[in-house]
Amino acid sequence: MIVADLVVTDLAEAATLARGPVPRVGAAATDLARIPGAAVAVAGGRFVWVGRQRALARSVRLRRGGRRLSGQGGTLVPGLVDPHTHALFAGDRAFEVPWIAAGLGYADIARRGGGILATVRATRAARGAALVAATGERLRRAAAWGTTTLEVKSGYALSHAGELRLLRLVPALARRTGLGIVPTFLGAHAVPPEYAGRADAYVDLLVRRTLPIVARERLAAFCDVFCEPGYFSVAQSERLLRAALGLGLGVKVHADEFVLAGGADLAARLGARSADHLLAASDAEFARLARAGVTAVLLPMTAYSASPTRRAPARELVDAGVPVALGTDLGPNAWTEGLPIVLGLAVHGGRLTAAEALTAVTVNAAHAIGRPDAGIVAPGRSADFAIFPVASADQLGYRFDARPSVVYRQGKSVSSAELRQYI
Ligand code: ZN
Repeated sequence: MIVADLVVTDLAEAATLARGPVPRVGAAATDLARIPGAAVAVAGGRFVWVGRQRALARSVRLRRGGRRLSGQGGTLVPGLVDPHTHALFAGDRAFEVPWIAAGLGYADIARRGGGILATVRATRAARGAALVAATGERLRRAAAWGTTTLEVKSGYALSHAGELRLLRLVPALARRTGLGIVPTFLGAHAVPPEYAGRADAYVDLLVRRTLPIVARERLAAFCDVFCEPGYFSVAQSERLLRAALGLGLGVKVHADEFVLAGGADLAARLGARSADHLLAASDAEFARLARAGVTAVLLPMTAYSASPTRRAPARELVDAGVPVALGTDLGPNAWTEGLPIVLGLAVHGGRLTAAEALTAVTVNAAHAIGRPDAGIVAPGRSADFAIFPVASADQLGYRFDARPSVVYRQGKSVSSAELRQYI
């Protein structure tokens, strides 16, 4: 008999994602390994039993003082995984929205004092405690939307000491929120004003001084680069990422977002963990990513916020055999905390099925940030789950603002709404 300290019952279904290879490609991305009338049991922060509720009593006993949680006819899914965020920043850029509406481009906005460098000024000026407090609130709201694990990039300090300072704040964020956080070093997010016109010298600083400390102190799991004209060239990006690989870090690329400039090809050549954005890439790049086994991380809300006619090529990538993950890109440029809204855009504009989209924010997203323990509901896995008040996983993406009623990580509630109930 299995002894549990939490059992969850009264579920219309559980979408466990517990079957198939990781990451899921092609037809495997449509198999949610659903269990109708499901129940799950948790002990010590891990799932210990997953099955049909009618079989629960035969196999599982609730320990004295344990909790029974009713799913109230909802659908249980793995805790959502957000594989691409810039959540660690100060200030906001709401002042840019009318400029974007008036048709100003990225460069015009930067000339008027907006863009990345506006956030760099605010973030450099912010105290560490204030950054942790503001970011913690954002992540708590993300958790209320179902996110239990997410990536957080540095990239708004753009100096040796400043980038290290941002990465060193991540453990405090994880403690404060109870969420799983994967830090990524994005010192090459933009060329800092002090190095204007001297991007090579800035890359030199990152390669010689900053990266070795990031690796030695294990401050990040990945190194990322903004590989676009006006930011970092393919050659500069390659130099940085090869140095990161040499130090044992994984690598990611902000690739081909504005124009086709070789970012996706670089990701394929280096065997990067992910190539992100890909709005300007097409079939030839998709085929190379598929062959190299690089996961495409799509950010449909960012595309939409820049122009409602821009869409992330989700269907095309799935059909090309590329593993697809979806992220919010949470940051001051496209401020989205809730993955379910991104899932809605991926189903509509991106033309994914609900099952493909759910795969993209669970098991494939976990793969994209090197967290194989997340994104799957199965015995032995971390008890990370969300219960949505819908009768089936097929409703996700269709109901744009479906919001979970329960969100747990490692067997404990991380949803602020629920925490309030218990206080
Ligand atoms: Zn990004």
